Amino acid sequence: MSNLDYDLIVIGAGPAGTAAAIAAGRRGCRVLLVEQNGYCGGMATAGLVNPLLGSFYRNPQTGRTGDLLGGIYAEVCSRLRKQGALLRFSYRVHEEEEYFSDAFDDAWLRIVYDRMLAEAGVATLFHTQLLEADCSGGQVRSVQVATKGGVAEFSATAFVDSTGDADLAALCGAGCDIGREEDGLCQPCSTMFRMGGIDKQRVMAGSLNNARLEVNSRFSAARERGDIDFPFKAGIGVYEFPRPGVLHFNATRMGGAAALTGRRLSELEVEGRRQVALLADWLVRAVPGFDHAFLESMAARVGVRETRRVRGRYTMTRQDVVEGARFDDGIARSAYIIDMHDPKGAGGLHSGKERGGAVKKGFRPKRYYEIPLRCLQPAGFVNLLVACRAISTDHYAHAATRVMGTLTTVGEAAGVAVGLTRNDGRPLSEIDGAAVRAELGYLDAPLGF
Ligand SMILES: Cc1cc2nc3c(=O)[nH]c(=O)nc-3n(C[C@H](O)[C@H](O)[C@H](O)COP(=O)(O)OP(=O)(O)OC[C@H]3O[C@@H](n4cnc5c(N)ncnc54)[C@H](O)[C@@H]3O)c2cc1C
Repeated sequence: MSNLDYDLIVIGAGPAGTAAAIAAGRRGCRVLLVEQNGYCGGMATAGLVNPLLGSFYRNPQTGRTGDLLGGIYAEVCSRLRKQGALLRFSYRVHEEEEYFSDAFDDAWLRIVYDRMLAEAGVATLFHTQLLEADCSGGQVRSVQVATKGGVAEFSATAFVDSTGDADLAALCGAGCDIGREEDGLCQPCSTMFRMGGIDKQRVMAGSLNNARLEVNSRFSAARERGDIDFPFKAGIGVYEFPRPGVLHFNATRMGGAAALTGRRLSELEVEGRRQVALLADWLVRAVPGFDHAFLESMAARVGVRETRRVRGRYTMTRQDVVEGARFDDGIARSAYIIDMHDPKGAGGLHSGKERGGAVKKGFRPKRYYEIPLRCLQPAGFVNLLVACRAISTDHYAHAATRVMGTLTTVGEAAGVAVGLTRNDGRPLSEIDGAAVRAELGYLDAPLGF
């Protein structure tokens, strides 16, 4: 056994980092998971992002739909389902065809993660922020973290950066890109919220699509009349939520410059809450069925869609997504569209029509695509993987790979890779994605639908 503190340190306990820690812990690694919040889940909990996306697939061969993702993602869903904290619902949004998604109760997700981490023997350090890293020659030796009790330093054989922003990779000098090529602007941020006390039966009248139409037609009319001074001309995303009387809203949007400084994040937090207040007040005033509704919850942290993307041994491109690229070292897969919100304004650049439009050509994959392990391996690094929304992609591919289902499987693959290095002593940079894929198993099994 090495005299380092841990076999693996994971920074960031979002969907990706938590899965990485669980997967490595299950393989006997001594794992430390460092997280600035007091719980796991990242955007899924602190950001109140819902529902889970990335698993839906319509098999072009059979026309049937089903789940594309397995492993820890499927386990998390199954545990939530048993708890009554997962609700599968269907809706029409970007297509003429119906999609399904899984809405989940984020309070239960925190508990599910705690249990899975404890079962895997992972040590967690909450309320702890990454400060510095000791790194040279592509080898990370230790990280300094700020805790309530002061600064602490931990060493490890391997490191996984799951901060979403590639904070650790950037501290270690890894090459990163930010936002779109022409001006560095990123997809907008949003503060998520939920309304409770809704007469859901009345608002939905049998289908979420009805609720969306009702809310949005009234919203457009209110904007035209000047009844609401909302900064963007965008639709209101209404989603199911597994609690009586509660619906979830993805409707605010801010900015375009990367949310990578305290000042920028602070501006975003205040503006996000201002927009939530405008919308929550308006919904109660203007939409039948919301007469007794109230602001049930609001994200503890602003939702950040995009900041840094690390430069890895392979950079996934828009074409890879659209063509449905497959790789020998493919360790995760998805058929999720290039869900590109306009960095400068409102609405999705992928959407062919104002509302409910079909996804434009060049944004919809022809079949599911795979993500190679090389996207997680920052160029020139020996013992560091980036497993989070900051994996190596271009700005467009990022808009497809950034969702929580997909990233849970990306994180799991990183944990499996670390498990393999522990068995044979090779550095992470030499682990072949094909071996990780073989261990994950489900990627080569028949789809079954
Ligand atoms: C507004 C919005 C809407 C979205 N809608 C959907 C949706 O409907 N469905 C879907 O599936 N996906 C959606 N996404 C995308 C998805 O939520 C994120 O891309 C995904 O959660 C990223 O997972 P992650 O594990 O890479 O990072 P995150 O979820 O961001 O987790 C990163 C974790 O690292 C921690 N961390 C960061 N920096 C540090 C540090 N320096 N020190 C210590 N800890 C640190 C954070 O606190 C966090 O817990 C949406 C995103 C946004 C912002």
